[in-house]
Amino acid sequence: MPIRLFGDPVLITPAAEVIDFDKELRTLVSDLTETMLNAPGAGLAAPQIGVPLRVFVWDVDEALGHLINPTLDLSPELQEGTEGCLSFPEILYDTPRAMRVVAKGWNMYGEPISVEGSELLARAIQHETDHLDGIVFIDRLSPENRKLAMKEIRESDWFGTAASAGLTPQFKTSPHSTFGLGL
Ligand code: ZN
Repeated sequence: MPIRLFGDPVLITPAAEVIDFDKELRTLVSDLTETMLNAPGAGLAAPQIGVPLRVFVWDVDEALGHLINPTLDLSPELQEGTEGCLSFPEILYDTPRAMRVVAKGWNMYGEPISVEGSELLARAIQHETDHLDGIVFIDRLSPENRKLAMKEIRESDWFGTAASAGLTPQFKTSPHSTFGLGL
């Protein structure tokens, strides 16, 4: 599936809770997983492929996972680290996140699950849950870095050209655009 880029309204719109744990939902999880692996990225949320539902997938430390209708408990301890997003090609910034997370939700069969993670997995789960709330990672940057990121985005080929033509941004060149840090 094509990945929606910053500038597409679906990325700043809160997604709806999943109600039906049906075959369509399992197809969505499989489409998300395939799109993430092809990108390649470490995580992908349903709004990034234009589906406004509370579903995301990850591929961290060689383990695939997915979570539906998540709620998060965050550690007070923070981590620093570089973060990118498949919806912001080539844009990478230090993004503060909680060091550990306990995420509760459901799997695609409607069974309750709990996922505990630290470091990159914790970062991925926070990044993807933000996507479900219409929050993008540049919203989590320091004011100074956010300003730098916005400048870089405006000057990027994928955003600048589309915006000046009144179009939704699309990325057409390198698929390896976030150096494995895309979420
Ligand atoms: Zn993202």
